[in-house]
Amino acid sequence: MSGIAKPRVSRPLRREPSGGEPSGGEPSGSAPSGNAPAPARVTFANWNEFQVELRRRIDEFLLRSGRPARDSIRAYVKAVVVLTAFALFYCGLVFVAVGWWQGLLLAMCLGAAAAAIGMNIMHDGGHGSFSKRPWVNKLAAMTLDVVGGSSYIWSWKHGIFHHTYANIAGYDSDIDLGKLGRVSPHQPRYWYQRWQHWYLWPMYGVMAIRWHVYDDFRDLVRGRIGSRPFPRPTGRELAILIGGKAAFFALAFGIPACFHPLWVVIVFYGTVAFVLGTLLSVVFQMAHCVEGAAFPSPDKGSGRMTRAWAVHQVETTRDFIRHSRVRAWFLGGLNFQIEHHLFPRISHVNYAAISNLVEDTCKEFGVHYTEHLSLWSGLVSHFRWLRRMGSTNQAG
Ligand SMILES: [Zn+2]
Repeated sequence: MSGIAKPRVSRPLRREPSGGEPSGGEPSGSAPSGNAPAPARVTFANWNEFQVELRRRIDEFLLRSGRPARDSIRAYVKAVVVLTAFALFYCGLVFVAVGWWQGLLLAMCLGAAAAAIGMNIMHDGGHGSFSKRPWVNKLAAMTLDVVGGSSYIWSWKHGIFHHTYANIAGYDSDIDLGKLGRVSPHQPRYWYQRWQHWYLWPMYGVMAIRWHVYDDFRDLVRGRIGSRPFPRPTGRELAILIGGKAAFFALAFGIPACFHPLWVVIVFYGTVAFVLGTLLSVVFQMAHCVEGAAFPSPDKGSGRMTRAWAVHQVETTRDFIRHSRVRAWFLGGLNFQIEHHLFPRISHVNYAAISNLVEDTCKEFGVHYTEHLSLWSGLVSHFRWLRRMGSTNQAG
């Protein structure tokens, strides 16, 4: 097996020894066809001293501390724990639970375990940061197919469009909520979005259901994700997508329906998916769609960004609750979102250890590094940002 199919947008010019993402190159992509400004090509400024020095320091730190950038024992142990928990909660819900309250509790735990698979196993596998071996990364990434999403489409939507063009409206498909929500000052605003800071929260829960039963199929048929075209999967990738969806629908509906009435199956599937969607959405939103995160747009004529790629990643992203080891364990290091955006090909189990070095280097180079110190402050910040984006055409 090889790794997830690599996209055909221009990739960064150099690869990091530690397996980092764009490193001093100028990622570029074709223009979107949405409402956002659409220069033919987006490029980043050339100032690379910050990125080169940061990468050097992180490589040196990993070497000195003996921490493997990938294939960490801790990541493998965690994968076993998370997958075991998922299997136990699933079997408990489908085969053991008696009464609605047991079912409800197990469904919520199963939703959290599915989110943990996404954040701890699949996310690293999709970025190629789980292992040095492509087939191990592929297996890890394919856990997403089993819990309902296409790992192939995700690799484009998140791995490429989001990670290269973070918070650039029209290019970053992860901040594209369609007409439902406006999270960037460069997206069109609709009258009903003045209430989006209230209605989007429950919609986050519904988004996982949409992803499972609609979004992947729509993207497959259209050949684009939001406004961004992508190559439809063929051969093995198409087989994984179809086989993954079949396995997911069997797990979510087919097997449970052999033991329970269909309406019960649908209610508990909805509960699991609601918890899953809420967790994944809120974790993402607190990192990018909050006060203090930048939403720059390219020059309309040249497509040039004013900031270098690495600086752009830091300024469009916020960490949250870096001090909480327990929550960092569950979140797969996604609370260290700045570190993840700078080094997506380093296993998430290293993010806590490199975080201070990243912050200090940012300060030294005058790059704005920000963090929500509590979960509550991150949630409130997202609430305020939604209210601002829904009520005014300006960033505020
Ligand atoms: Zn990522």
